[in-house]
Amino acid sequence: MAFKSEYLQGVYDKVCQRNKGEEEFLQAVKEVLESFEPVVEKRPDIVKAGIIDRLVEPERFIQFRVPWVDDNGNVQVNRGFRVQFNSAIGPYKGGLRFHPTVCASVIKFLGFEQIFKNSLTGLPIGGGKGGSDFDPKGKSDAEVMRFCQSFMTELSKHIGADTDVPAGDIGVGAREIGFMYGQYKRLRNEFTGVLTGKGLSYGGSLARTEATGYGLCYFTDEMLKSMKNESFKDKTVVISGSGNVAIYATQKATELGGKVVALSDSNGYIYDENGINLDVVKQIKEVERGRIKEYADRVPGSVYTEGKGIWSIKCDIALPCATQNELNGDDADILIKNGVIAVAEGANMPSTPEAVEKFLAAGVMFGPAKAANAGGVATSALEMSQNSERLSWTFEEVDAKLKNIMINIFHNSYNASKEYGLEGNLVAGANIAGFAKVADAMMWQGVSY
Ligand code: NDP
Repeated sequence: MAFKSEYLQGVYDKVCQRNKGEEEFLQAVKEVLESFEPVVEKRPDIVKAGIIDRLVEPERFIQFRVPWVDDNGNVQVNRGFRVQFNSAIGPYKGGLRFHPTVCASVIKFLGFEQIFKNSLTGLPIGGGKGGSDFDPKGKSDAEVMRFCQSFMTELSKHIGADTDVPAGDIGVGAREIGFMYGQYKRLRNEFTGVLTGKGLSYGGSLARTEATGYGLCYFTDEMLKSMKNESFKDKTVVISGSGNVAIYATQKATELGGKVVALSDSNGYIYDENGINLDVVKQIKEVERGRIKEYADRVPGSVYTEGKGIWSIKCDIALPCATQNELNGDDADILIKNGVIAVAEGANMPSTPEAVEKFLAAGVMFGPAKAANAGGVATSALEMSQNSERLSWTFEEVDAKLKNIMINIFHNSYNASKEYGLEGNLVAGANIAGFAKVADAMMWQGVSY
C-alpha cells in the first residue's frame, strides 16, 4: 500500500482505475495525496464531505480537433485540450502549452497542480490548463497564426473573462497570445480580459513577462533567508531551460548577487564560468528564436555540450526551469554530492519523486513548483484586475505586489509544514496550505455544483 490511510489509498486506486496509463497525472495526484495523510487524520469533516474524492476529478475536460492549413496548402490536424479542474475559489485560470508531448495526462497533471498553486497566491482564481500537441518550432508566423485562430475558434466556446482565463506556457508566448486574442475578439465582438500575457498595447500587464522567473527568485531568496540565513550573494547557480522562465530567473538571480553559469534547451546545455551574458541569450531566444548552442559560438570561453547533463555542473543553487521530470534521482545524487544547498522549481514537476525524496532526506532546501513558480499566475491575476478596472499599473507596483505574494507563499507553506508536524517540508506545506482554502470553499458551496 502506498498510503497509510485506507481512505487515501481508496481515492488513489479509483484515480488509477479511471485514468489508466496517464502517468504524469497519476504522479501529480500521488504526490498531493501523500501530503494529505496528516490532514485526513485531523479533519474527518473533509473526508465525510468527499472533498478529496471530488478534487481529483476535473469539473470539465474538453478535447477537440484543430484543423489548419500549412504554407504548402496541406491540411494538418492537431488535438486541442482544456481542462477546467476546479472553480471553487474563482474562474479557471492556467496556461496553454503547445508542444508535441501534450496529451490528456500532461494537461490533467498541470491542471490539477494549478488548483493548489492558484490558491496559494491568495488571489481568487480556480485551476485549469490547456494546450495542443502542435509544435510551433520551425513553423512560419503565418502557420502559427492559422493554427492559433483555429484553436481559438473552438476554445472560445468554453472560456470567458469570468469563466476561464487562459495564459501562456511552453510554446505559447506573446506571439501566440496575440493571435488567439485577435481571434477571440473577432468571434465574440468583445474586448475583455479573456487571456493574460497579452501585449502591453492591448491590455497586458507590465512585469507579466518577467513574473515567473522573478517570482521564483523572490521565493528562493526568502527560503534561503528564513531557513538557513543565506542568500543568492556569491552563489553559483545552474538554471535549466532557456525560455521565458529561465531567462527572467537568470536576470533576477544575477541581480540578487548570484552567478548563473549554465542554461539549456532540449538539445544540450551551455556552461559559462564567467556568468551568463543574458543579452546574448535574449537575442538568440527572444529575437532570433534560435538554439542555445549558438551562445557558445558568440561568447568566448563558454562551452556547449550536447545532451542532458546540466545537473553535473557544480552549483550552490539549482533552478530547473524547462519541463516535467527533467531532474531524476541520479541527477539529485550528483547535485547533493557537489554541495547544492537549495533547489527551487521554476518548471512544473521538473523533479521526479525519487529526486525530491533525496533532496529532503539530504536536508537540501526544496521549493516545489506550485509554490516557487506561482508568480506567473499571480501576475496574470493582477493583469485580470487591471483589465477589469481598465487601468494599467506601473512596473514597480506590479513587481512589488509579486514580491509580496511570493514571500507570503513561502511563509504560508512553511507554517503549514510546521502545523502538521513536517517542519521544513515545503512539498507537504504547499499542498496543505493550497488545499485549505479550496476545501473550505467547496464545503460552503455544497455537493452538486
Ligand atoms: P518556453 O517555451 O518559453 O521555454 C521552455 C524551455 O524549456 C525551452 O528552453 C525548451 O527547450 C525547454 N524544454 C522544453 N521541453 C523540454 C524537454 N523535454 N527537455 C529539455 N528541455 C525542454 O516555456 P516557459 O519558460 O514558459 O516554461 C518552462 C516551464 O515553466 C514549464 O514547465 C512551464 O509549465 C513552467 N511555468 C511557466 C510559467 C510561465 O509563466 N511561462 C508559469 C509557471 C510555470 P526547446 O526550445 O529545445 O524546446
